[in-house]
Amino acid sequence: MCRNHYSISNFSFTYGEDRLFFLTMSIFKYKKAEQVTWKPRYIILSYMQVVETIDEMRRLRSKLTEPVGLVPTMGYLHDGHLSLVKRARTENTSVVVSIFVNPTQFGPQEDLKNYPHDTKHDLALLEKEETDVVFMPSVEEMYPPQFDSWVEVSEVTERLEGAFRPTHFKGVATVVAKLFNIVQPTRAYFGQKDAQQAIVIKKMVADLNMNLEVVACPTVREPDGLAMSSRNIYLKPEERKAATILYQSLKLTQQLYSKGERDAERIRQGMIALIKKQPLANIDYVSIAHTETLEELDTISPPALVSLAVRFGKTRLIDNIIIR
Ligand code: AMP
Repeated sequence: MCRNHYSISNFSFTYGEDRLFFLTMSIFKYKKAEQVTWKPRYIILSYMQVVETIDEMRRLRSKLTEPVGLVPTMGYLHDGHLSLVKRARTENTSVVVSIFVNPTQFGPQEDLKNYPHDTKHDLALLEKEETDVVFMPSVEEMYPPQFDSWVEVSEVTERLEGAFRPTHFKGVATVVAKLFNIVQPTRAYFGQKDAQQAIVIKKMVADLNMNLEVVACPTVREPDGLAMSSRNIYLKPEERKAATILYQSLKLTQQLYSKGERDAERIRQGMIALIKKQPLANIDYVSIAHTETLEELDTISPPALVSLAVRFGKTRLIDNIIIR
């Protein structure tokens, strides 16, 4: 299925034909002998294609002007996602955004079934950012019954998130490799918010000689410092308030480092003590690690990745900063 999604101010509709531009009529009124005459004029309004199959994505890809930027997402878009799309827009002639809630990166006890979605809203946001193509495949399209090939990145996937979500990065690497093969982007954009994911993807691209550039973009935060995340919607009001402790603890690290502290364990313990003041917070890990190998550091020498995962009720949040 291929549909073009167009909107004019508040009015939104899909157009069922695959076309490169949209023709609409702007209306001019002429008063002539008490009659109103409508004079049509053709203008290009917007152009965004929404495709659901790999064949259609490939067909459109062959028509896109190089360079092509790809932004992989799971939808329920917020300003963090849009910052990636904006960056892709400024650095490429064509922009493809994928929306796919990838089942293989969720563990059995995780939130796959309840993962939030609002496709209409996502498409409206992407259209405003002048996205060229939105690729929204179904699970069956990406993982047909005979699917049996996986991409596994070792070492860097075993720490941090990988230690708590053992199958997560196998699913991420596999789906991202598939998206790269389908879309063949010049550049692909990932958020620093998921720091380990960006590291894993860079490693996969380097190890498997994939012909594209991986761009990591800064974390976009709410005014109180909480990193934007589709999962923030799960937080109860009191958990949302408590979650500000995450960025406070990351800022504490930065402050301690600026004052001359270099002992990584003392800083970790300082962060843990601060987070524990918040009774709703349950720590999975607090880490100060090498930015490429993700090995824990004894002594901080920049750049160092300070990252954490903390649960608030059923919601698990991750965040990080890099000490430079
Ligand atoms: P997701 O839809 O959660 O898979 O995220 C899609 C992409 O958006 C990933 O590369 C994320 O790292 C990135 N992203 C998510 N939240 C943010 C944020 N607050 N700031 C910057 N990038 C983000």
